[in-house]
Amino acid sequence: MKALVLEQIENKTLAAVKEITLPALADGDVLVDIDWSSLNYKDALAITGKGKIIRQFPMVPGIDFSGRVSESRDPRFIPGQQVILTGWGVGENHWGGLAAQACVKGDWLVSLPDALSARNAMIIGTAGFTAMLCVDALVEAGVKPQSGKVLVTGASGGVGSTAVVLLKALGYTVVAVSGRESTHDFLRQLGADEILPRSDFEETRPLEKQLWAGAVDTVGSKVLAKVLAQTNYRGCVAACGLAGGFDLPGTVMPFILRNVRLQGVDSVMVPTEERAAVWARLASLLPESYYQQASTEIGLEQAPAFAADFLSNKIQGRTLVKIN
Ligand code: NDP
Repeated sequence: MKALVLEQIENKTLAAVKEITLPALADGDVLVDIDWSSLNYKDALAITGKGKIIRQFPMVPGIDFSGRVSESRDPRFIPGQQVILTGWGVGENHWGGLAAQACVKGDWLVSLPDALSARNAMIIGTAGFTAMLCVDALVEAGVKPQSGKVLVTGASGGVGSTAVVLLKALGYTVVAVSGRESTHDFLRQLGADEILPRSDFEETRPLEKQLWAGAVDTVGSKVLAKVLAQTNYRGCVAACGLAGGFDLPGTVMPFILRNVRLQGVDSVMVPTEERAAVWARLASLLPESYYQQASTEIGLEQAPAFAADFLSNKIQGRTLVKIN
């Protein structure tokens, strides 16, 4: 079968489309014919070799996919059934979704909701799934539309753009932070009420004027430190990303004086039994316009070039990969 294969030669990661053979199915495994995959920030780190994502080569990258069951050794899945996979280390330490087929544990699969096509599921992909988890975290923390403005950082990226649309659909006033002026029209179309430049988030004092009832942060580092210092008393910041760095150069002041909550968000190991409800919420909240406005479709051969563009901050919205 055809796959994007990563190999490491003289400490350099090389990516090429090749013919490979999948291992035989073990008990509990499901073979999936993949229709769609997508590119996420982690895929970009893996494919370019710029992040230590992959430790065993050769590897097929692709941390998510949607497709149809071809063969199943898990009684919950039958041939022809449409499924989605995100996370679980697939595309990192288990052959992933940038391929014609994948052999994965049945426990890792979610049935495609009736309200979603396989294509739209991968426009959402890991990034959109994570955006929903971040928005859920704010709702759970008591952040309501009437509580005040909600900030989204890295707003033109995959997680950020989906978070903007989801928050808008739920009635929040959304403020987007973006490092690129070229993304402003895109962000307004998605529903951002205000747009702030990333340069406003360079310097921070331990506590600043309270501006945000909540925030979805995909960037980390200095930006996250400033967001925390500007979060309202009892506000919540859902932090899922590190596009700006993995450090957090701030103080404990927002936590101990303003009761601010910093909620970490991970999408990889979300328990199987919680996933279907997250997908159902995504399917019901995202408007048709999201799928048109926020996605770019590419082929498997284009994945390495697009992966490089991710890390030079040239991508906006979601990148969908057509496989079959
Ligand atoms: P994208 O590349 O699509 O989006 C990242 C955005 O961050 C960019 O569009 C850009 O937005 C902004 N950005 C880029 N470089 C910098 C920089 N140097 N400093 C500050 N901001 C920057 O990636 P994704 O949306 O796929 O992922 C976003 C982050 O979330 C990544 O760090 C990723 O690893 C993480 N993530 C975590 C998950 C989890 O389970 N915890 C799951 C999915 C993603 P703009 O140009 O508008 O400023």
